[in-house]
Amino acid sequence: MGVAEDGSATTVHVLFGTVTGNAEEIACRVHAELPTRGFRAGLLRSLRDYKDVGLSSAAEAKGNAYIIVCSTTGDGDAPDPIRPFMRLLRKKEPTLLAGVPYTVLGLGDTNYENFCQAAKKVDVSLAKLGAERFYKRGQADDGTGLEEVVEPWLDGLWPALKDRFGDAVDILADKEIACGEDVESTTTVSVDDIVKAVTAQELGFDETSLPSLLPAKISVAAVIETETHFDSPLSVSASYDPETVRKGSVSAARKLTADDALKTVWHMEVAFDNAIGVDGSYSPGDAFGILVDNDVDEISRLLAFVSVDGEDVVRIVAENGSIVATASARQLLTQRVDIRAIPKKTFLRALSEHCSDVEERRYLLTLCSRTSPRLYSERILKKNMSLLGVLEELAPSCRPPLALLLDQLPPLPPRWYSATSSPEVDGTSSLHFAFSVVEGGLATTALASRCEAFTSNCSPAAVLVMPRQSDANSYFRPPSSLSQSYVMVGPGTGVAPFRGFLRERAAQLERVSVDIEKVGSTMLFFGCREAEKDYLYREDLEHLSEMGVLGTLDVAFSRSGPSKIYVQDRIQALGAAVAEMVQDGGSIFVCGDGGGMAVGVDKALTAVLSEHCCDGNEKDAKVMLKKMAAEHRYVRDIWYFGEANA
Ligand code: NAP
Repeated sequence: MGVAEDGSATTVHVLFGTVTGNAEEIACRVHAELPTRGFRAGLLRSLRDYKDVGLSSAAEAKGNAYIIVCSTTGDGDAPDPIRPFMRLLRKKEPTLLAGVPYTVLGLGDTNYENFCQAAKKVDVSLAKLGAERFYKRGQADDGTGLEEVVEPWLDGLWPALKDRFGDAVDILADKEIACGEDVESTTTVSVDDIVKAVTAQELGFDETSLPSLLPAKISVAAVIETETHFDSPLSVSASYDPETVRKGSVSAARKLTADDALKTVWHMEVAFDNAIGVDGSYSPGDAFGILVDNDVDEISRLLAFVSVDGEDVVRIVAENGSIVATASARQLLTQRVDIRAIPKKTFLRALSEHCSDVEERRYLLTLCSRTSPRLYSERILKKNMSLLGVLEELAPSCRPPLALLLDQLPPLPPRWYSATSSPEVDGTSSLHFAFSVVEGGLATTALASRCEAFTSNCSPAAVLVMPRQSDANSYFRPPSSLSQSYVMVGPGTGVAPFRGFLRERAAQLERVSVDIEKVGSTMLFFGCREAEKDYLYREDLEHLSEMGVLGTLDVAFSRSGPSKIYVQDRIQALGAAVAEMVQDGGSIFVCGDGGGMAVGVDKALTAVLSEHCCDGNEKDAKVMLKKMAAEHRYVRDIWYFGEANA
């Protein structure tokens, strides 16, 4: 048992801040492994519940150590639910957590700005509050594969815990692998060698090189009386409140792009029986999650591996005995879990237990073994392999129980889209969306086929929609006063919310009689590839411009001329007008891709403000933009497309 410096046993709590479930999964693994390493495992909690584990003061934290696994959202922020913890970290009390031992593992993606920013903030702030880092911060990069850093970081964690807290039963090799170090040079052999070696070793795995088998969080029981059959088992997902999910149906659809456009974009209208939105209302700019069932054919193929009949009605029971859902196996797999998620190593380990073929079992164990980090990356991550791929291609003898699949697969994620409608013009029980169809993407392909069905035979297919709760306090919405000027920047489908902004503005201008002199001005920077192919909502925007609702409509065509022109180039070209608007108190709204566009636009705005408002001083321009952001006059709704909307 780990012993603290004062001789008492130390309890190690594991905390996580998660966006997509990765941080939670890693935290879970660490927590499950603590006892096998000789440490006293405390609680496994979201950072939101930091008070449960005494992380609010040095006195309450006495006798504890903390391992924190924290993700960063695309924009560099901490995950929403852990805001209360981030507030604690803002305290200016240098001894609040004096001597409290901790370490942080950050998860992020170097493709985006502010890599691992949330974890850095947590780490640095804890130190400022007096806490003592007992092991260096790890920073895992989803862009190159989290495993590359996570595994060596974990390898170093156990000896670090032992060094700090005493005689942990540590059976790891002495070698401490530096976090982020090129693990290949120390531990990896080629893929083919591994397979051969494993065949020769006959399941000779060292348990410490494998992820632990996690205890089940749910159990599944057969139900005899079918009258308890639910219409929809949506209530089993923990990632959203099922009460907020509403069923609507497609009421109009049209393709916004030409057949030969690089990407197909659809405009889809969804009608509801009653008003939609948080508390029955929404604002232009609000986002809504669309839930799309898993593919019928993929579910049938998956069911062939599971030892239940798809139509068998089962009851899911949580650890505390409460009934989570009652539905058919087919329904649960179709509507509850994300079957296309890439299986984590812990899942592969669990699947290996259900292979009747010893070679397949060995292979799954090899895939999740720490001694072969490249194999998992090459065979699973890089191939985007789903559970079905694993079962069909790698382990056809595997017969996992339904409970394991429902337990280990992440919940079916909502795909988020901005409403492109205006409640004032289109009514509160109708929503309009624009979405691009992602090649091979389950959700957007399914939505596109609903739109096609509507355009060919007016078939009003059902669509499940939920409002984004955090939008209730959002600043990404049109200014309430018509006298307020604003600039909008939205290339591609980033223009979606601005159509809503401008429709709302048109209705307001018509409704209220305002002195035209007092009405603020508006500018929209839209970007597309070619006017004839992907100029989304061209008619609507040109009409709004002709009506004077939209003052300046400026379009950057990226593939119409000899060189690329992007929205940021156009912002610079119209820099004087943009700067004037800002100086007169106007706002700037940016919507779209957070990877390259948002950075480019930020740079262009800095250059414009520097030139026109700050005598060429870039530093002052940056301060000006920061101030605008703090005053909610520079508001960005940045999306990371690959993450959410496939
Ligand atoms: P897209 O069609 O791929 O691109 C639109 C235009 O942006 C193209 O002309 C493209 O030019 C250009 N572009 C590419 N890189 C750029 C950069 N670094 N800076 C400025 N412009 C750049 O766009 P999309 O697929 O619609 O994606 C727009 C983003 O908006 C996505 O991240 C999406 O998630 C997000 N979004 C969607 C919604 C929605 O409700 N559907 C709402 C809000 C935001 P080239 O290809 O020629 O380089």
